[in-house]
Amino acid sequence: MLRIVSENFEVKTLKKIKVMSVIGTRPEGIKMIPLVKALKNDSAFESIFVNTGQHKEQLDQVLELFSVEPDYNLNIMERKPKLEEILAVILVELSKILDKEKPDIVLVHGDTATTLAGAQAAFFRQIPVGHIEAGLRTFDRYSPFPEEMNRQVVGKYTTLHFAATETNKSNLLAELVNEKDIFVVGNTVIDALFDVTSKKLDIPLEIKSIIENPYHTILLTTHRRENLEELNDVYSAVNHLIKEYNDIQFVFPIHKNPAVRKKVYASLSKDPRVHLLEPLDYYVFSQLMNSSYFIITDSGGIQEEAPALKKPVLVARKSTERTEGIEAGTLKLVGTNTETIINESIKLLEQPSYYQSFSRNRNPYGDGKTSEKIVSIIKNYFSS
Ligand code: UDP
Repeated sequence: MLRIVSENFEVKTLKKIKVMSVIGTRPEGIKMIPLVKALKNDSAFESIFVNTGQHKEQLDQVLELFSVEPDYNLNIMERKPKLEEILAVILVELSKILDKEKPDIVLVHGDTATTLAGAQAAFFRQIPVGHIEAGLRTFDRYSPFPEEMNRQVVGKYTTLHFAATETNKSNLLAELVNEKDIFVVGNTVIDALFDVTSKKLDIPLEIKSIIENPYHTILLTTHRRENLEELNDVYSAVNHLIKEYNDIQFVFPIHKNPAVRKKVYASLSKDPRVHLLEPLDYYVFSQLMNSSYFIITDSGGIQEEAPALKKPVLVARKSTERTEGIEAGTLKLVGTNTETIINESIKLLEQPSYYQSFSRNRNPYGDGKTSEKIVSIIKNYFSS
């Protein structure tokens, strides 16, 4: 309970706003932790933080880095559920927590099974849902899969839509979401990135020596389910470039997805300038992004972070929902075609003016104050 003295010196007692934030994967952790911290630091809130454990190891690194402890760990992957069971288990387990905690609002992020189950569980109890990173759309139901459908459905359950950009807002308006329920606040990933890059921590020696190599570093990450069939084409481009250029190196922290790992080990060049690594802790990864020359990725979060660090990104996907980055000229959609990836990489390596046209552009995804804005909007929502 919070006691406040009003203007006429009458003592009023206000109930804290109980907010339950739910995460399960690495990107959700990176993007929700700044908000969870902002809620914990504000005496108007009681914060309950739930980790479904959808990505166990990769997320644990992030929680440790930011020194945040979930109040509940569901550890759902311990039961080794199949894809459809993941959703069902989270729904059942989260519902039990909701019945116990009775939060005033549930916050979910993005487009994962955790997001969908979290929003649905809250909706079933008529608890308002706040959706962070709302309104991202490709309007292609199978790309990214199943994330595009997850976020469209979550949008239906949502009460407060926290959109990162005006484009995301327009997508929601096109789906007839009421304008008064949409708030353009930027992306919390920039809050996390600014926080992590301001830290001074040790980097493992192996990574330090890669960063210090006298080569242009091309950072590579691929993990999208819908790209699996075409990954060999992306890796063929890497194999070609490493043969043609003796002043570059590729650094590839490989996602835990076993199907991706199999392809990587079967197809990527064994050249010593192709460094295949385990997933990196977010601090180390941010240092690697910062020291890279450019990035080839199918990741969503990296498309938002790299422009803030002024790093050109070749987006190895058929479509992207980060259209502002394409318009601002910081991202280039190259798909998975071998030749296109080779040609675009050569242009970045050989044409300084082309390179600069990427890195001089502004970052459209936020100013690092998104969490603060969301906290104040939630406060207003409950005070009105
Ligand atoms: N990331 C990380 N370590 C890695 C690779 C990525 O910490 O080895 C971070 C990256 O900076 C970004 C997030 O993980 O913030 C993106 O995760 P991912 O690409 O797995 O998911 P997506 O954003 O596509 O949902």
